[in-house]
Amino acid sequence: MDAGRTPVTVIGLGQMGSALAGALVERGHPVTVWNRSAEKARAVVDRGARPADTPQEAVAASPLVIACVRDYPALRAVLDPAVDQLAGRTLVNLTSGSPEQARDTAAWARAHGIDYLGGAIMTTPPGVGSTEVMFLFGGAGEVFTTHRPTLAALGDPLHLGDDPGLASLYDVALLGLMWSTMTGWLHGAALVGAEGTSAADFTPVALRWLGTVGTFLTRYAAQVDAGRYPGDDATVDIQIAAIDHLIHAAADRGVDNALPELLKAMMQKAEADGHGSDSYASLVSVLRPSAGTR
Ligand code: NAP
Repeated sequence: MDAGRTPVTVIGLGQMGSALAGALVERGHPVTVWNRSAEKARAVVDRGARPADTPQEAVAASPLVIACVRDYPALRAVLDPAVDQLAGRTLVNLTSGSPEQARDTAAWARAHGIDYLGGAIMTTPPGVGSTEVMFLFGGAGEVFTTHRPTLAALGDPLHLGDDPGLASLYDVALLGLMWSTMTGWLHGAALVGAEGTSAADFTPVALRWLGTVGTFLTRYAAQVDAGRYPGDDATVDIQIAAIDHLIHAAADRGVDNALPELLKAMMQKAEADGHGSDSYASLVSVLRPSAGTR
């Protein structure tokens, strides 16, 4: 343990909370822990953390309290009785939820004199402690700056802005991206797998392609922000023709086509709205009609 490191309390020792507490212990922080089921504290206590008997005792032990429980009702069930001890300290909430829940909790914290950062963890427990993984935060910039060195024990901390709901908003947006990408990859793996190509052989090629797709996103981001979608690289019409090739190839090989059919339907909606000659970025007007065309 390093006497210079900020003492931290971790509330919630499920899979994720245990990983968070372990990473902080690893970095030499004095760590106090509390979990509803006390036996889950044993592993991290064996590594050097100190167990508290109550949330109140746990909160009182450190200027920085990190909470990671199942959901917001659980969070408030644990922290409401400790609100007096939390006053004057910083609460970093890494419990998943909606932006509205994060904002409501920030308002509750403000009303009780508690500094608050809403956070989101962009990894699973084995990734905690790696500088490769992002931890997203929203809340007052000075609170983030004060605690940034401690939060860096968990991963690469990114401050998105002063709004405490931003981390939850990005979290769900990025999870949507992850599920779409992973399902697209699995669809491709199923398709080439029908002809004997292993997923292991397909994946390096898929990853190179994702690098190219990343450059499309950068180009289309400017179009989405401008509300103008010039189809000077590839039009929606040509994408509709191309996705038919995928649908036919998959159908011939017994691969489910729900995902490409959904994508085709969205492209056709954009085409019907007059975007046939525009770029794929024009589909944002289908997803969020108020985005329209400026
Ligand atoms: P978990 O292993 O199921 O742990 C849930 C934790 O919440 C436990 O500490 C549990 O205490 C506590 N809890 C549940 N209900 C409670 C209540 N009513 N009162 C007090 N404590 C309660 O889940 P996890 O994977 O650690 O996830 C925790 C949070 O991290 C979730 O919001 C999750 O979305 C988020 N997260 C998880 C991952 C991941 O990969 N696991 C990634 C990003 C974000 P007991 O031990 O007493 O049941």
